[in-house]
Amino acid sequence: MSSIIPIFIPHTGCPMDCVFCNQRRISGSLLPATAQDVERETRSALEKLPCKSRPQIAFYGGSFTAIPAVQQTELLEAAYTFIESGEVSSIRLSTRPDAIDGERLDRLERYGVTVVELGSQSMDDEVLELTNRGHTAEDTVRAAALIKERGFSLILQMMTGLPGSTPERDIETARRIAALNPDGVRIYPTVIVRDTALYEMWLRGEYREHTVDDAVAVCAKIVPVFNEAGIPVIRLGLNPTEELSGGSAVGGAYHPALGELVLSRIYLERLLPMLEPYRGPGTATVAVHPSRVSVMVGQHRKNAEEIRRIAGLRLKVVGDAAEKDEIRLVSVAKE
Ligand code: SF4
Repeated sequence: MSSIIPIFIPHTGCPMDCVFCNQRRISGSLLPATAQDVERETRSALEKLPCKSRPQIAFYGGSFTAIPAVQQTELLEAAYTFIESGEVSSIRLSTRPDAIDGERLDRLERYGVTVVELGSQSMDDEVLELTNRGHTAEDTVRAAALIKERGFSLILQMMTGLPGSTPERDIETARRIAALNPDGVRIYPTVIVRDTALYEMWLRGEYREHTVDDAVAVCAKIVPVFNEAGIPVIRLGLNPTEELSGGSAVGGAYHPALGELVLSRIYLERLLPMLEPYRGPGTATVAVHPSRVSVMVGQHRKNAEEIRRIAGLRLKVVGDAAEKDEIRLVSVAKE
C-alpha cells in the first residue's frame, strides 16, 4: 500500500449515530474538513514525505458518499488538484453501504477515487439493528457488488463484540464478508468510547464488555477465514490515538498491539495439536521464522505458559524457519 495522507471528516454525512461511534474522539479530529483543509493538510503532509513517493489522499472518519453532493464535489476537487499535478496518486475514502449507487460512484470515478472502504460492521441484521447502523446486511452485499463491478478496489470493515453479537455471529460475519471477495478487510473489535450510546448501555448493564481477551479469542478464528480466502487483513484494532489512550477508551478491546496478540494466539492454536502426542514433562523445541520468535513465545511469555499448563511442556523457540508462517516441531525431549 502506498503511503496515505488521512483527512478526517468526523461524522460528516452520517444519518444517525451508531452506538459505538464517537468519531471526534476516535479520530482525534474535531471539525469536518473543508476544501481549504484538504489543500493545507495535503501540502503539509507532502512536504514531510520523500519526494518520490506519490501518496493517496484518504477521506476517513465519516460517510463520504452520504454528505451533500456539493460538499463531496468540493472536497474531491480540492484533492483532485494534487492528482493533476502528479503529487498524489489517487484518492480513497470510507462510507456506508446504504450510501452507494451508480450516480455516487460516477462522481468518485470522475475525481480519481480508486479505493472505497465500506463499513459493513456485521452481516447479522439483528446486530445491525441493536447497533443503530440504519442499514442491513443486504445493503452491504448490494454495495460491494456495485463497487467491484465498477472496478474500484473494495475494502470491507467489520467489527467484533457488538451488542447482540456472539463469537459465532462474528465468525459468520467474517465468512459472509469473505464471500463478497473484497480486496482487503479491516477488523475492529468493539471499544467502549466515552460519550457514546454504547458507553451509556454499558454503564446501565445492558452491554457486556468485549474484552481484549474476548477479541483475541474471536479474531484468532476470524483472521484464518480471510487468510484461507487470500484476503489481506490490512488492519486489526483501532489505531491508537492520544485521545483514546488518554482516557476516551474506557473499556473493550483497546490495545495498541492487538494484531500481534491475535497472531500470537493463532500460533498457539496451531502448535497445540502438534504437541498433543507428547503431553507430559519435557521440553519442546519449535522453529519459526526469525521475525516470529516473540509471536510464538507470546507477550509476557503467555504462549509458553499456556503450553506448560495445557501440555505440561517447556517451550524452546528457535528462529531458523525459512517461511514466514512456518511452525516446525524440531524435537521433544522427555524428562
Ligand atoms: S456511519 Fe461510521 S462514522 Fe458515521 S456514526 Fe456510524 S460508525 Fe460513525
